[in-house]
Amino acid sequence: MLKVTKEYTMQQCYHCNGIIKGRADKKFCSKDCSNKYNFAKRKSSTPEVVKTINRILIKNRSILSNLFNSNKQTKKKLSKIILSQQGFDFQYCTGVYFNRERKMYHYIYDFAWMEFSDQEVLVIRKLK
Ligand SMILES: [Zn+2]
Repeated sequence: MLKVTKEYTMQQCYHCNGIIKGRADKKFCSKDCSNKYNFAKRKSSTPEVVKTINRILIKNRSILSNLFNSNKQTKKKLSKIILSQQGFDFQYCTGVYFNRERKMYHYIYDFAWMEFSDQEVLVIRKLK
Protein backbone atom coordinates (compact mmCIF):
# COMPACT_ATOMS: atom_id res chain seq x y z
CA MET A 1 0.00 0.00 0.00
CA LEU A 2 1.17 3.49 -0.86
CA LYS A 3 1.67 5.75 2.10
CA VAL A 4 1.41 9.42 1.12
CA THR A 5 3.25 11.78 3.39
CA LYS A 6 4.56 15.32 2.97
CA GLU A 7 7.89 13.93 1.76
CA TYR A 8 6.27 11.59 -0.71
CA THR A 9 4.69 13.00 -3.88
CA MET A 10 3.01 11.22 -6.76
CA GLN A 11 4.99 13.28 -9.27
CA GLN A 12 6.41 11.32 -12.18
CA CYS A 13 9.97 11.65 -13.36
CA TYR A 14 10.21 13.60 -16.66
CA HIS A 15 12.74 11.11 -17.97
CA CYS A 16 11.79 7.59 -16.80
CA ASN A 17 8.22 8.19 -15.57
CA GLY A 18 9.18 6.70 -12.23
CA ILE A 19 7.62 8.10 -9.11
CA ILE A 20 9.61 10.88 -7.52
CA LYS A 21 10.27 10.83 -3.83
CA GLY A 22 10.80 14.20 -2.24
CA ARG A 23 9.71 17.78 -2.80
CA ALA A 24 6.64 18.36 -4.95
CA ASP A 25 8.60 20.65 -7.31
CA LYS A 26 11.15 17.99 -8.23
CA LYS A 27 11.09 16.95 -11.90
CA PHE A 28 13.38 13.93 -11.82
CA CYS A 29 13.77 10.87 -9.66
CA SER A 30 17.55 11.10 -9.76
CA LYS A 31 20.50 13.24 -10.87
CA ASP A 32 21.13 10.63 -13.56
CA CYS A 33 17.62 11.08 -15.02
CA SER A 34 18.04 14.85 -14.90
CA ASN A 35 21.32 14.63 -16.82
CA LYS A 36 19.93 12.24 -19.43
CA TYR A 37 16.85 14.41 -19.97
CA ASN A 38 18.84 17.62 -20.36
CA PHE A 39 21.37 15.98 -22.68
CA ALA A 40 18.58 14.70 -24.97
CA LYS A 41 16.93 18.13 -24.95
CA ARG A 42 20.17 19.86 -25.94
CA LYS A 43 20.81 17.33 -28.69
CA SER A 44 17.38 17.86 -30.25
CA SER A 45 17.66 21.65 -30.34
CA THR A 46 18.54 23.53 -33.56
CA PRO A 47 21.71 22.07 -35.16
CA GLU A 48 24.75 24.36 -35.37
CA VAL A 49 24.73 24.26 -39.20
CA VAL A 50 21.17 25.63 -39.26
CA LYS A 51 22.10 28.44 -36.88
CA THR A 52 25.16 29.30 -38.98
CA ILE A 53 23.18 29.52 -42.24
CA ASN A 54 20.40 31.51 -40.57
CA ARG A 55 22.99 34.00 -39.33
CA ILE A 56 24.44 34.36 -42.88
CA LEU A 57 20.99 34.96 -44.39
CA ILE A 58 20.03 37.51 -41.77
CA LYS A 59 23.37 39.29 -42.23
CA ASN A 60 22.88 39.30 -46.04
CA ARG A 61 19.47 40.88 -45.61
CA SER A 62 20.66 43.56 -43.23
CA ILE A 63 23.54 44.49 -45.58
CA LEU A 64 21.07 44.99 -48.45
CA SER A 65 18.63 46.83 -46.23
CA ASN A 66 21.35 49.21 -44.99
CA LEU A 67 22.49 49.98 -48.55
CA PHE A 68 19.00 51.02 -49.60
CA ASN A 69 18.48 54.73 -49.01
CA SER A 70 14.96 54.60 -47.66
CA ASN A 71 12.16 52.20 -46.89
CA LYS A 72 10.45 53.31 -50.10
CA GLN A 73 13.31 52.48 -52.47
CA THR A 74 12.59 49.34 -54.47
CA LYS A 75 15.53 49.08 -56.87
CA LYS A 76 19.26 49.71 -56.64
CA LYS A 77 22.46 48.72 -58.37
CA LEU A 78 25.14 47.72 -55.91
CA SER A 79 28.81 47.03 -56.34
CA LYS A 80 29.80 43.39 -55.74
CA ILE A 81 33.03 44.56 -54.14
CA ILE A 82 31.21 46.74 -51.61
CA LEU A 83 28.83 43.90 -50.80
CA SER A 84 31.74 41.50 -50.31
CA GLN A 85 33.59 44.02 -48.16
CA GLN A 86 30.55 44.25 -45.91
CA GLY A 87 30.48 40.48 -45.56
CA PHE A 88 27.70 39.64 -48.03
CA ASP A 89 27.80 35.93 -48.87
CA PHE A 90 26.62 35.33 -52.46
CA GLN A 91 26.33 31.60 -51.89
CA TYR A 92 23.30 31.82 -49.64
CA CYS A 93 19.79 32.88 -50.53
CA THR A 94 16.25 32.01 -49.48
CA GLY A 95 15.07 31.13 -52.99
CA VAL A 96 15.56 31.71 -56.71
CA TYR A 97 13.34 32.70 -59.58
CA PHE A 98 13.72 33.45 -63.27
CA ASN A 99 12.11 36.48 -64.87
CA ARG A 100 10.79 36.59 -68.44
CA GLU A 101 14.26 37.22 -69.82
CA ARG A 102 15.44 34.07 -68.02
CA LYS A 103 17.59 36.11 -65.65
CA MET A 104 18.03 34.44 -62.32
CA TYR A 105 17.13 36.35 -59.18
CA HIS A 106 18.34 35.23 -55.76
CA TYR A 107 15.91 35.97 -52.99
CA ILE A 108 17.06 37.17 -49.59
CA TYR A 109 13.71 37.29 -47.83
CA ASP A 110 11.98 40.43 -49.23
CA PHE A 111 15.02 41.40 -51.36
CA ALA A 112 16.28 39.76 -54.54
CA TRP A 113 19.49 40.30 -56.45
CA MET A 114 20.68 39.37 -59.94
CA GLU A 115 23.97 39.65 -61.81
CA PHE A 116 23.91 42.94 -63.64
CA SER A 117 27.51 43.09 -64.82
CA ASP A 118 30.89 41.80 -63.74
CA GLN A 119 31.01 44.51 -61.09
CA GLU A 120 27.40 45.06 -60.16
CA VAL A 121 24.24 43.35 -59.04
CA LEU A 122 20.74 44.74 -59.38
CA VAL A 123 18.82 44.48 -56.14
CA ILE A 124 15.07 44.79 -55.88
CA ARG A 125 12.93 44.97 -52.81
CA LYS A 126 9.40 43.71 -52.63
CA LEU A 127 7.20 46.13 -50.77
CA LYS A 128 4.04 44.89 -49.14
ZN1 LIG B 1 13.81 8.98 -13.43
